[in-house]
Amino acid sequence: MRAVVTGGAGFVGSHLSERLLSRGDDVLCVDNLSTGHAKNIASLLDHAGFHFVRQDVSVGLEITGRVDVVCHLASPASPRDYLRLPVETLLVGSYGTRNALELARRHDAAFLLTSTSEVYGDPRVHPQPESYWGNVNPVGVRSVYDEAKRFSEAMTMAYRRTHGVRTTIVRIFNAYGPRMGDDGRAVPTFVTQALAGLPLTVTGDGSQTRSLCYVDDLVTGLVLALKAGVSGPVNLGNPEEVTVRRLALAIREICGSSSPLTYVPRPPDDPQQRRPDISAARRDLGWAPRTPLTDGLARTVSWFRNTLANTP
Ligand code: NAD
Repeated sequence: MRAVVTGGAGFVGSHLSERLLSRGDDVLCVDNLSTGHAKNIASLLDHAGFHFVRQDVSVGLEITGRVDVVCHLASPASPRDYLRLPVETLLVGSYGTRNALELARRHDAAFLLTSTSEVYGDPRVHPQPESYWGNVNPVGVRSVYDEAKRFSEAMTMAYRRTHGVRTTIVRIFNAYGPRMGDDGRAVPTFVTQALAGLPLTVTGDGSQTRSLCYVDDLVTGLVLALKAGVSGPVNLGNPEEVTVRRLALAIREICGSSSPLTYVPRPPDDPQQRRPDISAARRDLGWAPRTPLTDGLARTVSWFRNTLANTP
């Protein structure tokens, strides 16, 4: 199989590329490195089946040769990144998604969209099933991401209905693991603070919850979703809910740190609760996350420790 992975130099995209290569597929990674990093794919560049093209997929996506599947991951994903790149985020969700769908249509390839739990906004239904339509503020600061992804989903369904493209939509809930950027998300923030002996900045009173899925489990879900070819949307996330405060304490312990916790204001429209209903993923993909939070955090801390030690 020859896969085009947009956003392949990012956190999730680099792990997906690695997994596809390890099972014998060829990967063409298309990325403009706006939030991703060349170092994420440095170890893949020697692989005969891996190619990298630096390109903005919002501008165009002309690929020669065979394409069997288009995995469309390109998009800023962390609040810090999409608030820094608001227009670019809307463009990659709209033009970028259209270009990726056109590529799939022209090559009669399957198409995978990595949507997000953010389409549920600050949810009024808990846990969130795919049938819930969400509670998104369309003019709030986070709307650049939430609405871009909602548009991406609508565009994907239009290509499916109008052009018969074999599309799959997955909605990813917070993932974590090695190669996460220190981009303001809770896990990298707490890990880098704890390793540096700095106070851990918990937002609000820390009682808000997140559901964290280890990246290897997520990538297994993506590969199974491609194999099953389901239309979706399908939630991929870990239904085990953890408060932000408990997460900070767990990371502090794994880091062997004695940093204090400090409390800072929560960002606007920050969701109070996030937890996926993964009944559809269990039923349609035979998928559920397997990595316990403490194991995944230990691997993540170890990666950050090594990376920080090797950063001049
Ligand atoms: P990331 O920022 O690490 O990776 C995104 C990649 O897309 C980066 O390499 C970036 O350079 C690239 N990119 C952005 N705009 C581009 C453009 N116009 N042209 C080409 N490349 C572009 O983020 P991630 O965490 O790896 O997220 C990957 C995908 O998964 C995103 O679509 C995101 O919305 C989705 N997702 C991730 C999470 C999560 O917890 N990580 C949760 C929900 C959804």
